[in-house]
Amino acid sequence: MRSLHALAFFAALHLCGEVARAADLGKIVWPKAVDVHQGELVEVKLKGNDLAAVEGQIGNEKIGFYPSGPGMLATIVGADVEAKPGSSKIFLKATDSSGNEHYREIPFKIKAKAFRQESFNVPPNFDRMSPETIEEIRREQAAFTRVFAAPNPDRMWDGSFVRPVPHEASASSFGFRRIINGTRRAPHTGTDLSAPIGTEVVASNHGRAVLVGNFFFAGGSVVLDHGSGLFTMYFHLSEFRVEEGAMVKKGDVVALSGATGRVTGPHLHWGARLLNARIDPLELLKKISRVWEPT
Ligand SMILES: [Zn+2]
Repeated sequence: MRSLHALAFFAALHLCGEVARAADLGKIVWPKAVDVHQGELVEVKLKGNDLAAVEGQIGNEKIGFYPSGPGMLATIVGADVEAKPGSSKIFLKATDSSGNEHYREIPFKIKAKAFRQESFNVPPNFDRMSPETIEEIRREQAAFTRVFAAPNPDRMWDGSFVRPVPHEASASSFGFRRIINGTRRAPHTGTDLSAPIGTEVVASNHGRAVLVGNFFFAGGSVVLDHGSGLFTMYFHLSEFRVEEGAMVKKGDVVALSGATGRVTGPHLHWGARLLNARIDPLELLKKISRVWEPT
């Protein structure tokens, strides 16, 4: 179904190319190109006094745009930590206030990032794969797969994002390639923020708590769905302060930090996922401008 949508979008792009050229192109300022490093995000903006709506597509992922200033629409696009570096296209459709549709293909490049490598050891019970352990890990994977498969299509987040705990990370530990107990493992897909056990963990933006539970690797976990394909995750928690299914506001306490799951000490593991790309959550603090609401 998704590939059919992609095909229809692509076909429309070519069919309507002439119409777009004949229309008043001077009214829309398109991005020239979009470059993003693995695990990072980038804001993409279109300007035009007559701009009513913008839709985009990368591969099979549809991208929603939101108002970000007078005559400006924006969105955020990320690249997965393990995305293959290379060039592709973003397809954009802009609709003006008269209903005319304008189409563009924008070059989209994913650039390689040099991630550090770290080695550490965890207690051997995290390596001993008993049938019970394998069952636990399956349950964990299934729970996360379930929530990521059903994102809320409407954007709930608004404005800038806030830090879930007061700690300022001097450098992100996101993307580190890991050697655990002497074996190469999956990269680290979050940023670890140091937090003594019992530190209040707040929602980094508005959303819905779509997963609240205890798991083998992630320990006490809360996942927030912020809408339009953006999730944030909070792991190794000691206590929950939100129920699964509840709406939360930016800054609401959702849990207390801890040292549960596979950890080497107390900290908050903060993760983010944008349209199925695992990105560094610190990018949310750095790169998103305020969402603007027309008055
Ligand atoms: Zn972590």
